Amino acid sequence: MQGNMMNQPLLISQIIQHAEQYHSQAEIVSRTVEGGIHRYTYRDAAARSRKLAKALSALGIQVGDSIGTLAWNTYRHYECYFGISGLGAVMNTINPRLFAEQMTYIVNHSRDRYIMVDANLLPLLEANAAGFETLEGYIVMTDRAHMPETRLDNVLCYEELIEGQDDDYEWPQFDENTAAALCYTSGTTGNPKGVLYSHRSTMIHAMAAAAPDALNISSRTSLLPVVPMFHVNAWGVPYAASMHGSKMVFPGPALDGASLWELIDAEQTNLLLGVPTVWLALLQYMDSIGKTLESVNTVVVGGSAAPESMIRTFHQKHGAFLLHAWGMTEMSPLGTLTTPTPHMDSLSDEDRYKLQTKQGKATFGVEMKILGEDGAELPHDGEAFGRLMVRGPWIVDSYFRTEGSALEDGWFDTGDVATIDPAGYMQIVDRSKDVIKSGGEWISSIDLENAAVGHPDVAEACVIGAAHPKWDERPLLLAVPVEGREVTLESVNSFLADKVAKWWLPDALIQVEALPHTATGKLHKVPLRETYYNYLNEQESAS
Ligand code: AMP
Repeated sequence: MQGNMMNQPLLISQIIQHAEQYHSQAEIVSRTVEGGIHRYTYRDAAARSRKLAKALSALGIQVGDSIGTLAWNTYRHYECYFGISGLGAVMNTINPRLFAEQMTYIVNHSRDRYIMVDANLLPLLEANAAGFETLEGYIVMTDRAHMPETRLDNVLCYEELIEGQDDDYEWPQFDENTAAALCYTSGTTGNPKGVLYSHRSTMIHAMAAAAPDALNISSRTSLLPVVPMFHVNAWGVPYAASMHGSKMVFPGPALDGASLWELIDAEQTNLLLGVPTVWLALLQYMDSIGKTLESVNTVVVGGSAAPESMIRTFHQKHGAFLLHAWGMTEMSPLGTLTTPTPHMDSLSDEDRYKLQTKQGKATFGVEMKILGEDGAELPHDGEAFGRLMVRGPWIVDSYFRTEGSALEDGWFDTGDVATIDPAGYMQIVDRSKDVIKSGGEWISSIDLENAAVGHPDVAEACVIGAAHPKWDERPLLLAVPVEGREVTLESVNSFLADKVAKWWLPDALIQVEALPHTATGKLHKVPLRETYYNYLNEQESAS
């Protein structure tokens, strides 16, 4: 027997309609690409999103067409979230840090008809334009006065485009399973893979993300998403915040510590979201000016593991709780969070910091299990580790325009290796391809890296498995020193001695000026393995 309730589709346009009606005065503040701060309300954003949808329709864009965006976090990119998806087209966010060939691949594979681009990113498109097969034109997200010189054809001005329309527009109604947004994973090998979110998956994810025991987003929140809108839709935060009328502060292209602090202070933001490297830079800057983050309650850290030293510093120096979150492009992205609980409150600071280094409990809507090498399910005892499998209504089923399912018996293999403890806290041991196999046992490169960055002379650390004649692989530490300092293996290993098992201690340390990162800011270990995989063998034969 079926229920008797309305079968109303969940559509992204409902978010901006709701925000306009019930949070019309709440503010959206942006640091602009042109320079300076822009400020308006959800009411203004809603009207401009309708104008954008009308303008795109006038260009011939229809349901199912793909429009690329190559842009920083600003109010215009925010308008694309609704203007493009709301009309039934697909917003294909493109990461400006991708290699040229990956960008060309994505534009062609998604069959983008137009790309909406920030003026200062236009050169990236100029460099690749010859390879674009389906593109009809470019829309530069600025006004006429700031339109850059370009040799590209059919370049339109965003402000002129929407000024040419009124905001009298009814959002169309369609099936909630219609595609809304497309984000490609920046795999370290092979072509990027497209994850095609639907209106339904985006809406359910945003509702779950806003919940008190998830990101706790409400009308009292003033949030700063440093996580880019081109990476998994800024973790779904623009949707979730608009549902609840949070004040939203977009940092534009300026992601350095000084610029972020200026916005945090001026706009009194209380919720920050971003990857660890961004917060390292902010914390260093705060130290250098001797100030603390007075308005901030919570810093959400995801994308890479949050080191314990960062958890401690946010709490002890800034009175802020580091909410560690884990997820991935294929999961929209939210999977787990270390939400503050009464149990956490009862712990000593030190025990709580330890718990916060775990990636957290699954948010409602996500199921997790871990599998051993034989494919059997492993116990949730906090010790056994295996392949982390997930399923849920906002998790990918198959990759875009790719044959076959992405699933294994209905579950998605995250590519992460993890433990789950009896309370349900999941902890990432490593990416399955990064784990170090030493004498038949596994060493977590992530744990070693996170412990090593606690050393006062280490600014950034990366651990890879290097070939070893006796143990198969042993850990090799590449370390970027804090400015003006030197790091040595002896000093780091004596620092690590009470933090990791003795047989985990790195066999060698190489001091480097910088470490390579992927387009999403994660350590890029592939080229390091290529260069250093035989380092220990070579040392051995040289001695
Ligand atoms: P992406 O799809 O680019 O967002 O990358 C997802 C991957 O980033 C995950 O599968 C993890 O390997 C890693 N990741 C994300 N969040 C965390 C976290 N909090 N701790 C450790 N690794 C993380």
